Amino acid sequence: MSKQPFVTKAMIEKIVKTYPTPFHIYSEEGICSTVKSVYDAFDWNHGFTEYFAVKALPNPFILNILHEYGCGVDCSSLTELQMAAACGFKGREIMFSSNDTPLQEFAYAHQLGAIINLDDITHIDTLREALGGILPKYISCRFNPGGVFKLSNGIMDNPGEAKYGMTEDQIFEAFKDLQKAGVKEFGLHTFLASNTLGEDYYAEIARILFNLSVKLHQELGCKIGFINLSGGVGIPYKPDQAPNNICLIGEKVQEAYEEIMVPAGLDKVNICTEMGRFITGPHGHLVTKVINRKDTHKHYIGTDSSATDLIRPAMYGAYHHITVLGKESWELDHIYDVTGPLCENNDKFAVNRELPRIEIGDYLVIHDTGAHGRAMGYNYNGRLRCGEILLHPDGSFTEIRRRETPRDYFATLDVCPEIRDMYIHPQSYPGF
Ligand SMILES: *Cc1c(COP(=O)(O)O)cnc(C)c1O
Repeated sequence: MSKQPFVTKAMIEKIVKTYPTPFHIYSEEGICSTVKSVYDAFDWNHGFTEYFAVKALPNPFILNILHEYGCGVDCSSLTELQMAAACGFKGREIMFSSNDTPLQEFAYAHQLGAIINLDDITHIDTLREALGGILPKYISCRFNPGGVFKLSNGIMDNPGEAKYGMTEDQIFEAFKDLQKAGVKEFGLHTFLASNTLGEDYYAEIARILFNLSVKLHQELGCKIGFINLSGGVGIPYKPDQAPNNICLIGEKVQEAYEEIMVPAGLDKVNICTEMGRFITGPHGHLVTKVINRKDTHKHYIGTDSSATDLIRPAMYGAYHHITVLGKESWELDHIYDVTGPLCENNDKFAVNRELPRIEIGDYLVIHDTGAHGRAMGYNYNGRLRCGEILLHPDGSFTEIRRRETPRDYFATLDVCPEIRDMYIHPQSYPGF
């Protein structure tokens, strides 16, 4: 199998006339078709909602597109809530799944009418304090079963080591306390493994949450309004991996629903998801230009981008496929490390990667940067984060976030007189 980019060299040559590299580019067509496939997969569940995990691609243009398809948003911080509110998301369209949460963020989430997903039992009191003693009418709690989580295809994760969620006993205690305080409707949430391939992950955690909700309903008589399967549905970063069949994932969750929920009389419970990576991940590319070639103990290709635009390879050793535009069908007869300029030896998009012969001026597409790409950017070494472009279905394109300038970098130093001088006499500071 080979991985093809959704842009050609000719398209990029046209775009760089207006917006030079590096930039992340997103395919509107790809994002729309994926979100539609998610809604189709869960259309058996009347109230199904995908709450897009804003952290994956926090851009208002993207959120607006997803909103049109009926998506809500999953936020985890004040600024993510502010972005959601600015884009017109309201009330139950907003899920607030945070942990280690400041009072002020709970208060703002409640003011927006968001569904608050409590990560810890002590947060009931924190929330009371934040809201002046009253609790919302609907609320969700995050479950962590502990131990080791294993799927039949070998996927494994370690919830017992994860900082998130409450134990089963704590969930019971929390629901009782919340019921007493007047909460009328409950949700349950869990997130047990990241970037899962194969179609069993959601069905497996659905079974865990369905069984728990039946118990809670029977023992406490509380109204279960929704089950939140969270994120974790993966994408094929490597060319030999197959994409998840979301339709089959939906069917397997339906099977579990009919087996566990329906017989218990819980046949009106809404399913929700908080996918990030699955929705936008494959539909983003980081486009960068080769500006340097270096042959020492190894062969290096230096680009005009760096880990500050895509940290996953440096942080997790994550594989991101690379295509050299215009050389898609060339033989992969060279071995390179593809690097950025940071003073950190992990600033490599690829190590020992088989690629066609690369020349200075070539454009590289680094695949699958539509989630946790630009979003995890940073400013180390004074590097300025790149911008974002949205490619429309008709081939036209829109800049949806401009690249940073030194002005952005120095904005928080405007407390300093020398820096303030840059704002007053910008002509003396090239590029400012
Ligand atoms: C990160 C996260 C998500 C999204 O996860 P993906 O793997 O990108 O789908 C959803 N919910 C919560 C609470 C998260 O922390």
